[in-house]
Amino acid sequence: MRRISILGATGSIGQSTIDLIARAPDAYRVVALTGARNVAQLARDAIRLRAEIAVTADDASLPDLRAALAGTGIAAAAGQAALIEAAARPADWVMSAIVGAAGLAPGLAALQTGATLALANKESMVCAGPLMLATAAQHNARLLPVDSEHSAVFQALRGEDIATVERVIITASGGAFRDWPLERLATATVREASSHPNWDMGQRITIDSASMFNKALELIETREFFGFAPSQIEVLVHPESLIHAMVGFRDGALMAHIGPHDMRHAIGHALHWPHRTDLPVARLDLAAIGALTFRAPDHARWPALRLAAWVMDLRGLAGAAFNAAKERSLDHFIAGQIAFPDMARLVADVLDRMVNDASLLSAPITLDNVAAIDHLTRIMVDEAKATLA
Ligand code: NDP
Repeated sequence: MRRISILGATGSIGQSTIDLIARAPDAYRVVALTGARNVAQLARDAIRLRAEIAVTADDASLPDLRAALAGTGIAAAAGQAALIEAAARPADWVMSAIVGAAGLAPGLAALQTGATLALANKESMVCAGPLMLATAAQHNARLLPVDSEHSAVFQALRGEDIATVERVIITASGGAFRDWPLERLATATVREASSHPNWDMGQRITIDSASMFNKALELIETREFFGFAPSQIEVLVHPESLIHAMVGFRDGALMAHIGPHDMRHAIGHALHWPHRTDLPVARLDLAAIGALTFRAPDHARWPALRLAAWVMDLRGLAGAAFNAAKERSLDHFIAGQIAFPDMARLVADVLDRMVNDASLLSAPITLDNVAAIDHLTRIMVDEAKATLA
């Protein structure tokens, strides 16, 4: 029986992971499930999967979690230390699906046990890619990508010599504003930005798709995960979102990964790797789909892509600063305090100020330094917001 833990079990990726695990209850022993505010879901799943421990990141939710698990024999805990302790419990396979930079420390704790870490939490690689890779190497742990684009690249690279890769193309749907006139973006509402043409995801990642900040994170993740040079990584707008990524080789071959809009494919691939097995995802009928279309990304519409190129060159703590700046700007957009295009303006402004103080971004990538730059960046975004015209 494989021992499994799911960090961020109550979220969209966590629930898809549980869907797969619950189909084969005899194959898995669930060690830890973690969540934050959705304690009812966390308790339900912990009971259904007979987990050892359920942990909420939210201290105030502990009494509710305890009450929901009373008499089940399942341990309940809360807070950051408990989250890390749960992630560090011996397990064979751990899903990292907490949202945001909060996923970094638990993911590292899981890697330190030598577990296989299935990584949906792209922010870990963006904020601290070298630390993640070094920790995995030091503890003989394996990192497997779960983001659909990175899973696609990983699959296209299977059996290939990475030195023969010429370029990697990750696709982008273009999000809610792909076809909007540029001048209309200034009046885009939160509701308009929160509707994705193809994928059903949480609100924050959906808005990040409209702004392409999500794609920007994925560019940085591609660089950190696979080690490609920034000049080798391209974004291609592909409105149908069926090709998730392509890998181009030295001989001109382009290997594309085509699959349905269902994260259970990438999750299942990481769960069963290195084997392929049946997964409950739709089979594509390409004749019915008929045509796939592509266009070059428009950098005036999606300035986040240019910012990602800058961050990939800067490296160091620039990824952590970039992630925090986009998180904080997104908070302000969702709160109705800034316009949609202001998010990229604020991120650019803060990065610009940080680059002028070389010592800020060149400090070693440690958990403490990532936390410190994250904190400072959020303050700087708030200051920059006050000066917006
Ligand atoms: P959700 O917002 O749906 O879920 C996030 C999970 O993290 C929930 O379990 C939530 O708990 C928990 N959580 C929230 N805040 C904290 C915190 N401060 N500390 C600990 N746990 C916390 O996110 P998704 O499932 O959509 O995404 C998870 C990760 O996977 C993200 O990094 C995202 O970029 C990535 N990803 C997502 C894809 C998707 O299709 N959704 C595709 C590819 C990558 P609760 O709900 O109980 O509050």
